[in-house]
Amino acid sequence: MNTSEKSMYVGRFAPSPSGPLHFGSLVCALASYLHAKQHNGKWLLRIEDIDTPRINPAMNEVILRSLELHGLKWDNEVSYQSQRHHLYEHTLSELEKRKLIYACSCSRKQIRARSGTYDGHCRLRNLPSAGHAIRFMHSNKHTHFQDLYKGEVHIKHAIASEDPVLKRADGIYAYHLAVVADDIEQGVTHIVRGNDLIDTTPIHLGLYAALKQNAPQYLHIPVLVQKQGEKLSKQHHSPAIDDQTPLANLKLALYFLGLQTPAYNAEIEQLTSVESLLAWATVNWQSKMLSKQSEILISVTNGVYSVPLSHKEVQL
Ligand code: GLU
Ligand code: ZN
Repeated sequence: MNTSEKSMYVGRFAPSPSGPLHFGSLVCALASYLHAKQHNGKWLLRIEDIDTPRINPAMNEVILRSLELHGLKWDNEVSYQSQRHHLYEHTLSELEKRKLIYACSCSRKQIRARSGTYDGHCRLRNLPSAGHAIRFMHSNKHTHFQDLYKGEVHIKHAIASEDPVLKRADGIYAYHLAVVADDIEQGVTHIVRGNDLIDTTPIHLGLYAALKQNAPQYLHIPVLVQKQGEKLSKQHHSPAIDDQTPLANLKLALYFLGLQTPAYNAEIEQLTSVESLLAWATVNWQSKMLSKQSEILISVTNGVYSVPLSHKEVQL
């Protein structure tokens, strides 16, 4: 990589403020931060507060404060999706010009009764947009993409080629539209995010192609789970990270990012400030250290996160 390529790196962390940061979000934030810093890149912070019924505006400050206390300093101003409706409307109109969106009146129940994934039922119905969901006419049938860490990824055809909703019948812009429109507008070149979002990537790539934009590179990291299939989330009552113990939190996060050998543990042990730990991790962490699994078990006891006992026996 030459210097000009290096300086072009733009990464981002894009939390949804439905609750405070839990440990899974910290691991994601740290991975995307370290990857950006290793490439001399910018690391942007975008608050994904588009889904108004699900978000809690009081969480914005809580998230920002947690990141600051963990030394994760972002570049530029924080952006808020709730303030970017004009961009999403503009992106929709670009797609409309290309005849790549259509209105859909199907309910979830109807879709479930047909096949479970949306089959393009309303593509040719020519429904008016008012009062209906707007879908993307997804013609990119690529079910494979290259992940920076996982290599070639294959997503099931029915999921990869679905026509996603871009604007809901209640007028709310959908995640797929907002995330792609923002990443394009903000010049994001690298997306480091949880493996739980991997299935959405072909849809996002379809939108980049439809909008005639270069797609970013993706790196999907393992998701932390409390039990198999149960990722840390507000839904699963995952506790907030404890802002009083940022150094310990970051050390534990590095463990889950693969810095698990006794030699690394000994070095990490010596580091006594958030700043020195982040500087050390920027030099020493490599994405190839990530676990090969798509899920990693973390133990949560009385609101405290730790390495599961079984894990300790295997690794240490
Ligand atoms: N806002 C999304 C989330 O919190 C992340 C979006 C993304 O990284 O593409 O799950
Ligand atoms: Zn429909």
